[in-house]
Amino acid sequence: MITVDEALSHVLRCARRNAAVRVDLSQAAGRVLAADVQSDVDSPPYDKAMVDGYAVWSQDLADGHAQLAILEEVTAGDVPAHGLSSGQATRIMTGAPLPAGADAVVMIERTAVVATADNPLGLVIIDDAPPRAGQNVMPRATVIRRGETILCQGTRIGPVEIGLLAEIGASQVDVFAPPRVAVLATGDELVPASQMPGAGQIRNSNGPMLLAAVARAGGIPLDLGIGRDDRRQLTELVRRGLESEILILSGGVSAGVLDLVPEVLAEAGVQQVFHKVRLKPGKPLWFGVLPADPVDKLVFGLPGNPVSSLVCCELFVRPAIAKMCGRSDVGARCETALLAADFQHRGDRPTYHPGRLQAAENGTIVEPLRWLGSADLRGLAAANALIRFAAGDRRHAAGATVDVVRFD
Ligand code: AMP
Ligand code: MG
Repeated sequence: MITVDEALSHVLRCARRNAAVRVDLSQAAGRVLAADVQSDVDSPPYDKAMVDGYAVWSQDLADGHAQLAILEEVTAGDVPAHGLSSGQATRIMTGAPLPAGADAVVMIERTAVVATADNPLGLVIIDDAPPRAGQNVMPRATVIRRGETILCQGTRIGPVEIGLLAEIGASQVDVFAPPRVAVLATGDELVPASQMPGAGQIRNSNGPMLLAAVARAGGIPLDLGIGRDDRRQLTELVRRGLESEILILSGGVSAGVLDLVPEVLAEAGVQQVFHKVRLKPGKPLWFGVLPADPVDKLVFGLPGNPVSSLVCCELFVRPAIAKMCGRSDVGARCETALLAADFQHRGDRPTYHPGRLQAAENGTIVEPLRWLGSADLRGLAAANALIRFAAGDRRHAAGATVDVVRFD
């Protein structure tokens, strides 16, 4: 049986980055840029006031004091009508362009206005430390120069990048297309969540769970519903699933009499890459590839037990989706933490045990949660990570360093 690392490297070898597509900025969050993006503007586009106050010529305030004739008022969105001469000031609001001749802004809090007979706007009396040239002014293009590359190919787009792309006029961007991921739950015992299970039946928890996990990983989920343990029906559903770049099945990959998934996939032309991985839960995992253009289709047969399904999805499907989305950070997402309590591990496979990571004074600690095994999804509800315990019967003492795989 292959190891988790070997299985993951097979999956990542088979997963190819998708082609680029152009999307509206409103659809770009979470995607990865497929091309560098240049700015079509300077930012700021003009020498800009950074506070509300008075634009002045700093030399007029060599000793910090002056009485200056108010020339006009400029608010954000306006442009100054007049250049400034010595002895004059322009009342200016944050974000407005500085008038020609001004080189500093004095904060409004350091000023007072008095009326005069000859100027309807009055005189501003300034009593402040002498301003330096450039005070409270952001010069044109200090943040961004027009034509400059601002974001590079490979950048993952989050809220900050969306704001920046909007600022530089990228109302549409080229991103790597996310894979469509079809999810099919198999099993004669399954009924949808809306239904009360009858004798011998259980609700399909894997389907909705895997669809949500796919969405969180950045794929476009497609629900194929529930497939019976029936060769003809499975064949038809698999054919539909193979229209997507990734097909995930749950159930039917173990050694039971109705575990038909590997056979049905083989008949559909899907070539097995591996079956069974040395881990717990998740040992029956099946993975194969259907050669196709422009990218091969990936097929994951996840074990039916819900926690097994989720663990395999986190360890193997999620990196595949990430790679197809153009992300570069798709390797093993292992980090370490300090065990918060003693833990007795048993078994000859590495175990991924539900855990709760928390920041503590001495670093990150992780608490192994009460968990009844691969059918106990409830035991996973409080978890934000999986703790990896190496194979072998062994007591792990509180305070020991352990590997953890964090959920999103
Ligand atoms: P299988 O891998 O098909 O042998 O299923 C293993 C176990 O997981 C059985 O107890 C199934 O009833 C259960 N199971 C299979 N599919 C699902 C599902 N979609 N939701 C919840 N439990 C499932
Ligand atoms: Mg089954």
